[in-house]
Amino acid sequence: MKALSVASEIYPLVKTGGLADVAGALPLALSRHGVAMRSLLPGYPAVLAAIGEAETVHVWTDLLGMEARLLATSHAGLDLFVLVCDSLFNRSGGPYGDATGADWPDNWLRFAALARAGADIATGLLPGFHPDIVHAHDWQAGLTPAYMHCDGALQPSVMTVHNIAFQGQFAPSIFPALRLPAVALGVDGVEYYGDVGFLKAGMQKAHWITTVSPAYAQEIRTPGFGMGLDGLANVRAAHLSGILNGIDTDTWDPAADPALAKTFTARVLANRSVNKRAAEARFGLHEEDGLLACVISRLTWQKGMDVLVESLYAIAALGVRLAVLGSGDKAMEAAIAAAAARHPGRIGVSTGYDENLSHLMQGGADAILIPSRFEPCGLTQLYGLRYGCVPVVTRTGGLADTVIDANEAALAAGVASGFQFAPLNAEMLVQAVRRTAGVFADVKAWATLQRNGMKADVSWDASARRYAELYTHLIEKARP
Ligand code: ADP
Repeated sequence: MKALSVASEIYPLVKTGGLADVAGALPLALSRHGVAMRSLLPGYPAVLAAIGEAETVHVWTDLLGMEARLLATSHAGLDLFVLVCDSLFNRSGGPYGDATGADWPDNWLRFAALARAGADIATGLLPGFHPDIVHAHDWQAGLTPAYMHCDGALQPSVMTVHNIAFQGQFAPSIFPALRLPAVALGVDGVEYYGDVGFLKAGMQKAHWITTVSPAYAQEIRTPGFGMGLDGLANVRAAHLSGILNGIDTDTWDPAADPALAKTFTARVLANRSVNKRAAEARFGLHEEDGLLACVISRLTWQKGMDVLVESLYAIAALGVRLAVLGSGDKAMEAAIAAAAARHPGRIGVSTGYDENLSHLMQGGADAILIPSRFEPCGLTQLYGLRYGCVPVVTRTGGLADTVIDANEAALAAGVASGFQFAPLNAEMLVQAVRRTAGVFADVKAWATLQRNGMKADVSWDASARRYAELYTHLIEKARP
């Protein structure tokens, strides 16, 4: 089976979040399930620099009014189509905005062009590549199923929602430039509360919608989580399901991770203490045997980082030490730095994005706090499980699906792998940390918790099988 993936970021070429991890890992895992996937992504400068020489397989003189080229190449085991369009993608800054973080004002056009290119490939642009299925990720690829629908594409499409908070909603004045037929500006097309909605269009027109955890597939059907798309999620409930993300178990392997001070396995958990000392040193924390908790996160409201900020002093008062790696909201960054200054040796902070440090923290800290308001899947708790860094999470989305709470029944049955709490507020977070410290004091119980997490299958294999089954089902259904 041949599949085309359309995504705006893909690890290891360009990454701002979990989407890149999924887009990068899924094709490799799918190849073991009979799916040959090629991935279409924009030719940002960093992407072009990384891939070097590549074959031009198509030239557009008029891709939504622009000149563009399509490159085909392979990189890091991935088969890629790279959309080169200087006027859209050749600029410094991030994939979605300038160096100050402000969104590019023409993001609608940049990602409409990506989707248009994806639909072109689906409908026969390249003589040598006819995908049996098209898989679009997030709002940036959301118009792909809409273009395919309007073009009368024969193959089915899947729209994966990684985070329904990001919807790609734009003023209706952009509609003519999208070059969709007028009828597409209806409620069963791209129209979204009087605007144009890219994710809405994808959810409307794709043959199937997936979210990145089963719990999130249910949550987005409710007003609190659906963020305006809950009505559509309900209408399409029979074509909506959740498939958990896996993680890259080669990059995240505690037995062979070069970012660790000492590698370890579930059998030699004692080796973790070397990483604990190294992490303490990196964060200027006192060397102690007591609970060392960490946070590795975008500092945002979604991640509950405002509640973390509110709880910092109370967590420190429990005698728990905390290492925070993150960046994002400037007020949160400042508040965490202030708390660290007030509690030297007890709260340490590193502001920024540091992949290697995040590995060391997962391999050295005893627990990772993930107080998300909502979490479509979440990766950091999966890394935590694999590294014996026990996740302390809100009971939501993928966190609820992957962490087994250490309640009495689960402890007695020997299956617990972390701590869940709800609702999200400072009192409940601090209480969860207190509960964590309580179990941590019981060395045997704690090691069982760690080992249970390390045993859990967090690889891509099971997820890839589910995607492959879904593709097969949709292709069979679409057959005339
Ligand atoms: P989201 O994609 O919503 O940010 P996920 O948990 O799905 O959340 O994925 C976050 C990814 O980004 C993980 O790989 C995590 O380790 C990484 N990450 C987040 N913040 C940092 C940071 N400051 N430094 C290093 N890695 C980070």
